[in-house]
Amino acid sequence: GSTIGILGGGQLGRMLALAAARLGLRAHVYDPAPDGPAQQVCAAATIAAWDDVEALDRFAQAVDVVTYEFENIPTAALDRLEGHRPIRPGRRALAVSQDRLTEKRFLNDLGLATAPFRDVTGQDDLAAALKEIGAPAILKTRRFGYDGKGQARIMPGDDAGAALESLKGAPAILEGFVDFSHEVSVIGARGLGGQVACFDPGENLHEDGILRTTTVPARLSTAQRTDAVLLAARILNALDYVGVIGVELFVTRAGLVVNEIAPRVHNSGHWTQNACVVDQFEQHVRAVAGWPLGDGTRHADAVMENLIGHDANQWPDLAATPGSAVHLYGKAEARDGRKMGHVNRVTPLR
Ligand code: ATP
Ligand code: MG
Ligand code: MG
Repeated sequence: GSTIGILGGGQLGRMLALAAARLGLRAHVYDPAPDGPAQQVCAAATIAAWDDVEALDRFAQAVDVVTYEFENIPTAALDRLEGHRPIRPGRRALAVSQDRLTEKRFLNDLGLATAPFRDVTGQDDLAAALKEIGAPAILKTRRFGYDGKGQARIMPGDDAGAALESLKGAPAILEGFVDFSHEVSVIGARGLGGQVACFDPGENLHEDGILRTTTVPARLSTAQRTDAVLLAARILNALDYVGVIGVELFVTRAGLVVNEIAPRVHNSGHWTQNACVVDQFEQHVRAVAGWPLGDGTRHADAVMENLIGHDANQWPDLAATPGSAVHLYGKAEARDGRKMGHVNRVTPLR
């Protein structure tokens, strides 16, 4: 059998490990923190720091391929692992998506539309950038942001200095505010042999910067749907990608605008667990293990709702609701803003 090494012990790692198990594969997770959602279900776990070269060596030698559930893995750790085993998706996908500046340049070079942006290194830059882009705008840290963290909105007349200070000196970009009607995402996959398969796009609703629901089908015309899938395939091919990717899009009157890409399974793809023949987690495991990609056909309409913080307390009611599948991540503490689980409500297509 084959063993998939997973960097990161969160819920995405957990659901990857469960999918691997269904395919007769083993999962071995690496994370500095013990008892994460993934460790609870993995055959093997390494609890060690990202700079523990001996632990990295032993981990790599114990697995057949290395993949990851989050994109902010230190470069030195990846260098070390890559000396032993292939990393899928590859380094280019990570380098591009770890940094919002690199990411936007990559997308624009591919001919894809993004929000207008400027590199911001200090107050002078920011003033100039704001003049060019105009308000409203969003100042975002180039790295490590998620769930809307590391962002500050600048409205007309706002003190831009305060926004910059709130980011505590981290390298940032200023993005123009995109006037979108709604947000959608494409969960795409590319196999080792270059085969591409995309799931039907989902429509995403965010609250306080955190994904709240994903609804499938998304409100898209046939042309927009085709466009969304083709642009995801373009990104996959350009990166010589292996695995699942999440591509977040704004729907605007001028067409689709790419917000960001995530080189991994994605929260907005959780609906596939209960509405598709093969879900995003299995699709990712198949790709990185060198299997043929699966049939991602959708057999139901679906609404995925995240259970955030104390939302998870409603699980007994949700579990008793017809057509609902409850997924819980095994996290002990229900802190505010923490993703504890999700529920998929599905209506079979007829
Ligand atoms: P994630 O958890 O998806 O990784 P993140 O912290 O990387 O989130 P973004 O995806 O950049 O943050 O932004 C979060 C949300 O804020 C977006 O889904 C969108 O609703 C809004 N947003 C971000 N950038 C813009 C923009 N340029 N114009 C308008 N809205 C935006
Ligand atoms: Mg992001
Ligand atoms: Mg996002």
